[in-house]
Amino acid sequence: MAYKTIVGLEIHVELMTKTKLFCSCKNEFGGEANTHCCPICLGLPGAMPKLNKGALEYAIKAGLAFNCQIAHRLKMDRKHYFYPDLTKGYQISQDDNPLCANGYLIIEGEEGPKKIGIQRIHLEEDTGKSIHTEAGDTLVDYNRAGVPLIEIVTAPDINSGEEARMFLENLKNTLKYIEVSDCKMEEGSLRCDVNINVVDTETGKKTNITEIKNLNSFKAVATAIEYEEKRHISLLEEGKNTDKETRRWNDVENVTIIMREKGGTDNYRYAVDVDILPVAIDREWIDDIKANLPELPQDKKERFMRDYDLPAYDAGVLTQSKELSIFFEETVKLCDDPKQVSNWVMGDVLRGLNDKAIEVGDLKFGPEDLAALLKLIKEDKISNNVGKKVLREMFETGKKPEDIVKEKGLIQISDEDELKKIVAQVLEENEQSVIDYKNGKDRALGFIIGQVMKATRGKANPQIVNKLVLEAIEEK
Ligand code: ZN
Ligand code: MN
Repeated sequence: MAYKTIVGLEIHVELMTKTKLFCSCKNEFGGEANTHCCPICLGLPGAMPKLNKGALEYAIKAGLAFNCQIAHRLKMDRKHYFYPDLTKGYQISQDDNPLCANGYLIIEGEEGPKKIGIQRIHLEEDTGKSIHTEAGDTLVDYNRAGVPLIEIVTAPDINSGEEARMFLENLKNTLKYIEVSDCKMEEGSLRCDVNINVVDTETGKKTNITEIKNLNSFKAVATAIEYEEKRHISLLEEGKNTDKETRRWNDVENVTIIMREKGGTDNYRYAVDVDILPVAIDREWIDDIKANLPELPQDKKERFMRDYDLPAYDAGVLTQSKELSIFFEETVKLCDDPKQVSNWVMGDVLRGLNDKAIEVGDLKFGPEDLAALLKLIKEDKISNNVGKKVLREMFETGKKPEDIVKEKGLIQISDEDELKKIVAQVLEENEQSVIDYKNGKDRALGFIIGQVMKATRGKANPQIVNKLVLEAIEEK
């Protein structure tokens, strides 16, 4: 039997404006509880919200980056529901006229590029945060209340956990490029819910949609989708169906757990927010925002392939984060060998970042230092392998590569007379290996060269050592 998995995502993204959506309170993560609040964001009776134009601009920026149409008029609605972190009893959101609609984002699918539709992006305010203490109390912090959010709703075009992960990586990358959000999942700046069901493609039979919440990483999104996919299919195979329900992802046991049944459709009794007058969105303003959008990841990738003659793979890796792409370009400006820079950035630099779990911005060295290191290698002052060691040291201490090389005496030995002596010494101490090599054991040569490198603490120029060892064996 053949099954198709159908996934749609709902993503909430906090916009990094200086102030909140309807008041001048600071929009900042953390801070002492209930210190970034005023009558407006606390929703006190009689307080009048005033729209933050910067938040509207950021939301439009996101809409344009995801190829959406932008509404001619901003209309805000009240979404009624009760929650302790929502003092007004409603959230100011958008119902039938979202700010942005009908966009898309392209991912690299298994069978080439795949378009994932974005149905809508709307503007809304964030709620406060409930804090559950160990003593069993629940406290509420309203610092987050009124922070501007965009809610991005995709079409059900995603068909696997891996596609969802790719979509989210791409979405996050684009949002960071256009500088509207820091997208820090650990701080709740980016939150994602999943809607999933499965269709039996032969009979057309479908399972009911399950909503999954509490996903704290892109990996968790992918794993939760794979888990639900199996659960839905096995129910279909038993001739059963899933219940319409919301489930929570348990990251420790890697399972979803039921949170609540979804009886009927939610009725939020949306109503126009009469406190916020509709805003006409000027077309010239939109054109202006569009003209000033920074280069987007896909465009940058194509430019890297064109300008630096890089393979698509390299260009893709280098543009996966804005900071990394800038780091690469700045280094190339200083040493003018794009492929060499690309190899180092994709290899040892990225590995170092991953090992230390840090971002480019946290590096203790800059593009000028990497360029200086690559110059030392190019000029044969140090070998490639020593270069790797120097880079590791740069990660730790941030010292200049020239200083590390000097301090540790790592300058490459290319002097043939000096190396000849060492080679002669090594051959004398390893007569058996010489005999083995002459008898056709090629591996013995590698051993001998390794011994020479060891004797010079890795500083010998490997090409010259190779040549000298062969010459010396020849003479024996
Ligand atoms: Zn406020
Ligand atoms: Mn929402």
